[in-house]
Amino acid sequence: MKRCYMCRGNLQKRLVDVNIEGVIIKDVLAEVCERCGEQYFDTNTSTFLQNVARYVTEQRRAVISTTTKLSESTA
Ligand SMILES: [Zn+2]
Repeated sequence: MKRCYMCRGNLQKRLVDVNIEGVIIKDVLAEVCERCGEQYFDTNTSTFLQNVARYVTEQRRAVISTTTKLSESTA
């Protein structure tokens, strides 16, 4: 059985909700430490989560810059 890198506790496969930049991704398969709650993801899942994080960051930046331009033009 795999063990937690942080505390050497046992890892259990579970579906978890992941919060990325304030966006909740539900039912993500993870290995969760029974003792400290640390979550581990496989390579595909990590890539997926990183892509979501990048997308959210880019979209938010686009919206914020648009909003700033609008408020400048109306001011
Ligand atoms: Zn742990």
